[in-house]
Amino acid sequence: MAVKKILIEPNKILRQVSQPVNEVNKEIQKLLDDMLETMYSANGIGLAAIQIGIPKNLIVIDLLTKEKKKDPMYFINPKIIKQSEKLSKYEEGCLSIPNLFAEVKRPSECEVQYLDYRGEKKILKAAGLLATCIQHEIDHLNGILFIDYLSKLKRDIILKKLSKQKIEQKRLVI
Ligand code: ZN
Repeated sequence: MAVKKILIEPNKILRQVSQPVNEVNKEIQKLLDDMLETMYSANGIGLAAIQIGIPKNLIVIDLLTKEKKKDPMYFINPKIIKQSEKLSKYEEGCLSIPNLFAEVKRPSECEVQYLDYRGEKKILKAAGLLATCIQHEIDHLNGILFIDYLSKLKRDIILKKLSKQKIEQKRLVI
């Protein structure tokens, strides 16, 4: 496994629409392993392949609800087939928009169809944090970030803070 570099907004690649995976083979599994390692090392609970620059429909999630025990979930070609009308609100963050958070409303429940790590077809009913996380990650596959749901004013504030962070990070490197 290897830790990859996570792309930070603004970055055109993050706006790319990812493509379905045709075959779940060793190469795809290695990519999923690397994504998971990258996510854990960045203290995230979800990561889409496009966040490490790979436009494939791959997501990893681990809500880390089991105390200190890793419990990873892998989603290949995930597709939402049902969404509740009821919405819930969470304060969301994103590894591509580090250290900045905003409240986003999304359907509180969803049903997702996908292939698992072994390439087997699965359907999962998700609610609460998991439902939000899955929808956030599937958005990444369509080039959508959580800040797209905010008002222009709120989005601009976040983008401004983000560019400031980037400058500070660069200064540290020098
Ligand atoms: Zn994200």
